[in-house]
This record gives sequence, structure tokens and C-alpha cells, in this order.
Amino acid sequence: MGAKALHLQWGSSMKKALPGSKVPFLERIPGDNPKPWDFRADEVVDAVNEGAKLGHELTKYEPHIMVLQELAEWMRRYLEEGITDKFLDDLNSDLHQVRYAKYVVPMDLLPSDTGFPRELYVAEFGHNPTPEAIAANDFSRLLSSGELKRLKSCQQRDCQNFFLGPPQAKWCSKTCGSKHRVRKKRRKDSAR
Ligand SMILES: [Zn+2]
Repeated sequence: MGAKALHLQWGSSMKKALPGSKVPFLERIPGDNPKPWDFRADEVVDAVNEGAKLGHELTKYEPHIMVLQELAEWMRRYLEEGITDKFLDDLNSDLHQVRYAKYVVPMDLLPSDTGFPRELYVAEFGHNPTPEAIAANDFSRLLSSGELKRLKSCQQRDCQNFFLGPPQAKWCSKTCGSKHRVRKKRRKDSAR
């Protein structure tokens, strides 16, 4: 799942919304059609991990990698600080760059239970939106969806991956778990 998966097309995927969100949210980058914000938390986490790896090889300005790095920073802060007032103040300060516009849309575009058109919001990014603004918009959607309650960072020392797992999970993968056990055994053996 690459970083590109983050930008889905306007279409049938509109029907999907994040759990807990009744009014759909879309986003629009200038010069582009509005796109639904309906990617899943695990896709974002995968993209952020990939972005962290690509980030080390960056030779030129790559806005979408910058967005992923900003998202990684928000995830790291969320795990370290929790949702403090300061955390939300900083998030809201980055969100100030985003304007939301409300639209009422045709029913063939957005199915309706009532027989009347529904409303939705589009995050309108100005010209040359900063990676901070895009990341803050993405992160705020994830945070308010509740999906980040399973967010963790891998405890294996040389792996910095984020992952979604149950409360007791420590490693992002079986590989990291066995690496950890090998290291622990070596430490024990050399202490003999
Ligand atoms: Zn790992």
C-alpha cells in the first residue's frame, strides 16, 4: 500500500465513510476534483511507515513524503503525550490553514435514506497547501474516528514502524518479535 493509495477518486468509494462519521468529508487540492477522505487507519499507518523509509533518501522536495513525515510526527506525539490541551492546540493551529466548504450533492453521487440530497463538507486547501495543513487535516480525521486507540510503535529497537494492534502487542510483525527474542537470548548468553 503506497502513499498514492491515500488519494482515492471521487466515485463509488464515496459511500464508505469512517466509522462514527455521519457527514462525509472530502478534500480538494487546487486544480483537482474533490476527493473523499475515506482511507482506512491501517492504510495510513502503512503509508506513514513507508514515507519514513523514503524520507531518508529524499534528494528533492517531495510534498507527499513531507505530509507522511508530518503524520509520523503527530502519531509519535500522540503516543508520547496523549491528547493533552497543548496537543490539540498545536493540531488546531495547523488546521487554521484549512477552510471547510459545505455542499449539497445529488443523490446519485451520495446515496440518501431520506429521499433528499445530503450535505457534505470539503476541506478546501488554498494554493500551495503546506504539508503541515494536509497532515493536520488527515490526522484530525483519524483522531476523531477513534481508530487510533490501537496505534502503537514497534518495540524492536531498530524498527520504528507504527502499527495497529491489541493493548498487549509490542511488535509490528513476527519478524520484529523474533529479532527481539534473539537479541534477548544473545544478551543472556553473553552475560554468562
Ligand atoms: Zn517492527
